[in-house]
Amino acid sequence: MELKIELTRQPKEKPADENKLSFGHIFTDHMFVMDWDKEHGWHDAKIVPFAPILMSPAATCLHYGQEVFEGMKAYRTESGEIRLFRPQENFRRMNESHDRICIPKFDEAFLLEALKKLIEIDADWVPHTYGTSLYIRPFTIGTEESLGAHSSTKYKFLIIMSPSGAYYEGGLAPVKIYVETKYVRATPGGTGFAKTGGNYAASLKAQDVAAEEGYSQVLWLDGVHRKYVEEVGAMNVFFVLGDEIVTPELDGSILSGITRKSAVEILRSWGYKVSERALDIQELVDAYHAGTLKEAFGTGTAAVISPIGELKYNDLVMEINHNEIGEISQRLYDELTGIQWGKVEDRFNWIV
Ligand code: PMP
Repeated sequence: MELKIELTRQPKEKPADENKLSFGHIFTDHMFVMDWDKEHGWHDAKIVPFAPILMSPAATCLHYGQEVFEGMKAYRTESGEIRLFRPQENFRRMNESHDRICIPKFDEAFLLEALKKLIEIDADWVPHTYGTSLYIRPFTIGTEESLGAHSSTKYKFLIIMSPSGAYYEGGLAPVKIYVETKYVRATPGGTGFAKTGGNYAASLKAQDVAAEEGYSQVLWLDGVHRKYVEEVGAMNVFFVLGDEIVTPELDGSILSGITRKSAVEILRSWGYKVSERALDIQELVDAYHAGTLKEAFGTGTAAVISPIGELKYNDLVMEINHNEIGEISQRLYDELTGIQWGKVEDRFNWIV
C-alpha cells in the first residue's frame, strides 16, 4: 500500500520545559490515518497534520463502542537515537483485539513502517530528558453512519503521538492498591484480553471508589469465583512468594502485557523461578501472615515497574516489604528502562 504524506504548514510550539510534561495532553504535528470499507479493504494510508476528524454523530463507535487501541513509546537515547520497544508485539496484540471486536485485521509490517515514518517526521517531538518519551496511541474506530447494533462496514485507523513526562520524578515509588470485591472488569468469554475502550469504561467506577479511599489503582479479581487475582488497573501484577515469582496466567480475561512478557523473560534469564498460574487471593493473605509475601509489583508501558507497598483486601491492610521498593522490582526496573533508553545492552533484540 502506498503511504501519502502531507506535511503541516503550521508547526506547533514544542513544550518549552520537558520537566513539566504530563501525560496525554500535547500532540505532535502529524498523525497517521487509514480507512477501511468493504470494497477497498484497508486503503488511503496517509500521514497528515494532526487535526480533529470529521464523522457522523451516528458513527457506530460512538454508540456501541466498536473501538480498539494500543499504547507504546518511543525513547531517545543519550546519543540521540530514537527507538521503539517491541512494537511488533503491540501491532500483533492490536490485531488480536481487532479480531475480538470484529474489526478487519491490518498488515502489521506495513503499520510498523508507517509508524517509523511518522516518528521520523515528528522526530523533534521525542523529548530528550531521561525518563521522558513519546507516547504512541494507535486506535481504530467503527465509522459507519448507522444506529443498527451490528459491526460497522467502515473503519478508521489512526496513530496519534504525545510527548510525555517521566512517570517517576524522584525514582521508583511504592503504590497503594485496593483489592476490588464488588465490581468486576472482565469475565471468561468476554473482552478482557482485548484492548478495547469498553473494558476501561467498565473499570472507572471501581477506580473512583478506590481513589476516594486513597488508593492509586484496584486489583481485579476474576469474575466467576471472585477470588483469583487478575491484574491491576492498567498493569499486570507479580508477587514474590518465598522463592517463587507468581503472575496470573493469561486466561482470556487479562490483558497480555508486553512489559509482563518481558519481565517474565528477564526474570527467568536471571535464574528466578517464575510461575504463570492461578493465584487465589487467600494464598496471598496466607503468605502475608506467614511472612513469605516478600514483594509485589505491577508492570506496564506507563510506569514500567510499579512496586506495591500496600494491598487492602476487605478489612485487611497488608503492608508489603515495609512499604519500600523491593530488590527484584528495582533490578527489573533498571534493566527494562536501561534497555529502553539505551543504557543496558539489548540482549534480547527487543529494540527497533
Ligand atoms: N493491563 C491493562 C488493562 C492495561 O491497560 C495495560 C496497559 N497496556 C497493561 C495491563 C500492561 O500492558 P503493557 O505492558 O503492554 O503496557
